[in-house]
Amino acid sequence: MAKEDYYDLLGVSRNATEEELKKAYRKKAVQFHPDKNPGNKEAEEMFKKVSEAYEALKDPEKRAAYDRFGHAAFQGPGAGARGPGGFHDPFDIFREVFGQGGGGGGIFDEMFGGGARDGSRDGSDLRYDLEITLEEAARGVEKEISFRKLTACEHCHGSGAEPGSKRVTCPTCRGAGQVRRSGGIIVFTQTCPACGGAGVKIEKPCSACRGEGRVARTTKLNVRIPPGVDTGSRLRSAGNGEAATAGGTPGDLYIVLTVKEHELFERQGDDLFCEIPIKFTLATLGGSIEVPTLSGKASLKIPTGTQSGTTFRLRDRGMPSLRGGRHGDQLVRVHVEVPATLGPEQRRILEEFARVSGDAHEPTSRKFFEKAKKFF
Ligand SMILES: [Zn+2]
Ligand SMILES: [Zn+2]
Repeated sequence: MAKEDYYDLLGVSRNATEEELKKAYRKKAVQFHPDKNPGNKEAEEMFKKVSEAYEALKDPEKRAAYDRFGHAAFQGPGAGARGPGGFHDPFDIFREVFGQGGGGGGIFDEMFGGGARDGSRDGSDLRYDLEITLEEAARGVEKEISFRKLTACEHCHGSGAEPGSKRVTCPTCRGAGQVRRSGGIIVFTQTCPACGGAGVKIEKPCSACRGEGRVARTTKLNVRIPPGVDTGSRLRSAGNGEAATAGGTPGDLYIVLTVKEHELFERQGDDLFCEIPIKFTLATLGGSIEVPTLSGKASLKIPTGTQSGTTFRLRDRGMPSLRGGRHGDQLVRVHVEVPATLGPEQRRILEEFARVSGDAHEPTSRKFFEKAKKFF
């Protein structure tokens, strides 16, 4: 499928100013933001697309490249690589507070891997979508993820050359990296097709990677997810994207989190919300109940005469804040339940109760009937 034009995606003209681009992007980002469109895949797609478009156009250099070459400016496959060197994993936490007008989303699958003059290419950034539970988001968790990516070829150590063979000056361009072509009266230069602009060629390509320097391999990585993350949080693992070629910079790996819905708790920022049924006798007489929280059970005092719909706050029982410091709270809304059926004994006592009570004592109904009197 052809990619949509970045300007069209943002709904701006090709000579839009930086300010206009920014404005257009913010508008679209707010419109399609995943938080505003839960479960809407189309909106999510659009959100990614406009973020990608803005990411490309906000940088004058990238924008110029896009204006000249279109999407082809950003396709950076390459060959060759850097030493594998195991996975040191300094997890560099990268939080994006979406919707606050900040820097905009990122480009994940396609980054600028422009071929440099020496033939090196930077590795592409990668995106990995990871789903975790609310409990894991609260406590933090370590996960092993596995994904396929281009890694340095072990046979040639990423050089693309069969061990023992040399790099030679490209015979097509004689090392210039560019060739001149004439089309009638017009003479133009283009990147040398034989060496891809590097000016050098490998005498004998590596037999294992056919001179690519990189091979697709399944990679395992342990990632540490800090407490407090939410759906949309991104973690960046520097250098764990695709391998680069010939001294370029390897890409980064972005882990984009989704926190699964919980059966009991609904998250509202750092607070957790839940609804709990209580007996009408408890609501009337008062007492206490045990409430489930993410950190075990907690006791909640129900005062005498609690009305249905009353919300109680359990301090610090919510989610930890990603920014450190205090926890959110847990909000408990009680729902007063009346018995669906009554035995003869219960009925007798309740009828007795109703007789003794007469009118009065229920604050909401008293207020209601006072107002209603005006109409009758
Ligand atoms: Zn190789
Ligand atoms: Zn050449």
